[in-house]
Amino acid sequence: STFNALGLIDPLQQALAELEYRSPTAVQTQAIPAILSGADLVAEAQTGTGKTAAFALPILQHLSAEPASDEIRPIRALVLVPTRELALQVAESMDAYGRYLSLRTIALYGGSRVESQIDRLKRGADILVATPGRLLDLMHQGIFDLRQLQMLVLDEADRMLDLGFIEDIRQLRKKMPRHCQTLLFSATLSEAIEELVPEFLQKPTWVRV
Ligand code: AMP
Repeated sequence: STFNALGLIDPLQQALAELEYRSPTAVQTQAIPAILSGADLVAEAQTGTGKTAAFALPILQHLSAEPASDEIRPIRALVLVPTRELALQVAESMDAYGRYLSLRTIALYGGSRVESQIDRLKRGADILVATPGRLLDLMHQGIFDLRQLQMLVLDEADRMLDLGFIEDIRQLRKKMPRHCQTLLFSATLSEAIEELVPEFLQKPTWVRV
């Protein structure tokens, strides 16, 4: 399989070629066409399988089809992650894959100075990658809203449950539009995760690698 066959646009294929990604991984082959078609998706995929690109590439492609004007840049995609390290990694991947697109990604996480994150947020972003607690704090301060959100990712959902983020995620979900394409990635599909699926996703495609 090739990235071309998955329906990815040229600017993304160009970035992938420069990163020397030669062919898609199993989770990418299964997830990318489903996400591009607009489906909700549950993927059982561990770190190292290429799961980040599996959701990042279709998000970048979807958002680039409908560019935001410079003055108004509502948050259109949100990736919720369990840790600061993962927030930084995912945001770095978005920047790398999206280098030929003009989309802005911001990482927000606890344990760092909130002021600099607020300054960046005020300048606007298309994509947020955030830990749930810090994001909820910043939203309560009225610095941004999620009313124009189109895509939501729950990355490493099993770890977010273990870390007790479920109530924060529920609070955040209430601030998003009713219809929001939702993608859940988890290393394991435990009973707790399977219970979460009908709460956040509609008729999802299931991917196991
Ligand atoms: P992840 O599972 O998202 O943490 O990705 C694991 C590693 O695989 C990262 O270093 C990625 O840059 C790399 N990677 C992801 N997809 C591909 C691909 N299709 N070809 C080569 N490397 C990849």
